[in-house]
Amino acid sequence: MEKPKLIILGTGFAALSLLRKVNTKLCDITLVSPRNHFLFTPLLPSTTVGTIEFRSIIEPIRTGRTRAEFYQATAVSIDTDTQKIVCESVAGKNRFSLSYDYLVIAVGAVSNTFQIPGVEEHALFLKELGDARLIRKKIIQNLEQASIPGISEDERLRLLRFVIVGGGPTGVEFAAEMHDFMSDDLMKSYPSLVSDVRIIVLEATNKILNTFDEKLSEYAFRIFQRQHIEVRTESIVTRVDEREIILRDGSRIPFGLVVWSTGNTQTQFISSQQLPKNPTGRILTNRYFQVTGFTNIFAIGDCATIEEEDLPATAQVAMQSGKYLGRYFNRIANEQQQKPFIYKHFGMLAYIGSNRALADLPRIKGKGFSTWLFWRSAYLTKLVSLKNKMLVLFDWLKTFLFGRDVSNF
Ligand SMILES: Cc1cc2nc3c(=O)[nH]c(=O)nc-3n(C[C@H](O)[C@H](O)[C@H](O)COP(=O)(O)OP(=O)(O)OC[C@H]3O[C@@H](n4cnc5c(N)ncnc54)[C@H](O)[C@@H]3O)c2cc1C
Repeated sequence: MEKPKLIILGTGFAALSLLRKVNTKLCDITLVSPRNHFLFTPLLPSTTVGTIEFRSIIEPIRTGRTRAEFYQATAVSIDTDTQKIVCESVAGKNRFSLSYDYLVIAVGAVSNTFQIPGVEEHALFLKELGDARLIRKKIIQNLEQASIPGISEDERLRLLRFVIVGGGPTGVEFAAEMHDFMSDDLMKSYPSLVSDVRIIVLEATNKILNTFDEKLSEYAFRIFQRQHIEVRTESIVTRVDEREIILRDGSRIPFGLVVWSTGNTQTQFISSQQLPKNPTGRILTNRYFQVTGFTNIFAIGDCATIEEEDLPATAQVAMQSGKYLGRYFNRIANEQQQKPFIYKHFGMLAYIGSNRALADLPRIKGKGFSTWLFWRSAYLTKLVSLKNKMLVLFDWLKTFLFGRDVSNF
């Protein structure tokens, strides 16, 4: 008998969790994604300063135990009548179509610029490994340029001003990594610049980490003050120029690097599809992740949410929904009854610098050094392969013993 054709769009948390759960003997699986690797985003901020190396947190999609076909391409459109998708290859822009019996949309989300002028052109984002690589390169470039003799005082101070827009977990973790880099490695590599470096976090609301418990958020604020990370709350950016950020109150902040981390919005692909969506553009599904109005199209992860329960856009939601859907397809093949999905919230973690972390768990609110040890061990166990675990462990040890590498290439 011919096996049903299952197409999965994406190679992120949701898609990989599905792939690892589904019995690949029961259906013909094709993966389509512009990214030919899985990226473990929770440790992405650590790669921007070299605490962890880039390749330690990715896993090539072709090396898995899976028997799935993979195409490095972007899904462009879905024809729900003929059950076909049109894709475009990443390298050659070749268009091709694939037919499906079941389609799973797990394409994630993209950084939200709120269409603020200049953000796209002058800010860097922190979403993909390429983004982290650009940030790392720019940091070292600025440090080298600031060390050049004869450079004006104003220009030197501008180059050494690192601004983060967005005080959510990603912005905070990046600021924390920057702080560690500046306090641990600058003294050795760029001693003359140490006193001039400034790290500034601009947050539109009145506190950082506002999804965390109030006390933990206040603790993070105090630690940032102690670390000389400047947190400016109620700061709304209205424009980003080549060298300056302009705030709503008219003030101007010259910068050498600006990292934009103000949350997510939907991809062009999702926005252009005629599928039912919530007001923020996420595809609406039922508790079996079937897109409302369809029985063979499913959507999981950051690009979707359940109609009766707005799910947070996090890796743990994406992983749980991917695993659920893997079991769902196995049950279809075995003609077993389906149970609706129930989300279990395990809590949130964030690194805040100087070997301190926060843990906002359902029963425990942890902070400080012991929570940092917990943070490290939790992510080490969550990494998807033994190779990743060994590489990350080795990187941590290397950074502890020899410091971060400041070579630029
Ligand atoms: C820096 C950072 C730190 C984070 N830290 C945490 C954390 O500590 N804890 C936590 O729970 N969450 C964290 N998150 C959020 C978490 O990464 C996301 O919620 C999670 O990745 C969502 O999984 P996903 O599978 O929906 O999307 P993703 O993991 O983003 O994967 C989307 C996939 O779809 C592909 N794709 C995009 N467009 C198309 C298309 N048109 N056709 C085909 N494929 C496409 C992409 O290339 C990618 O492979 C963090 C995010 C970032 C950026």
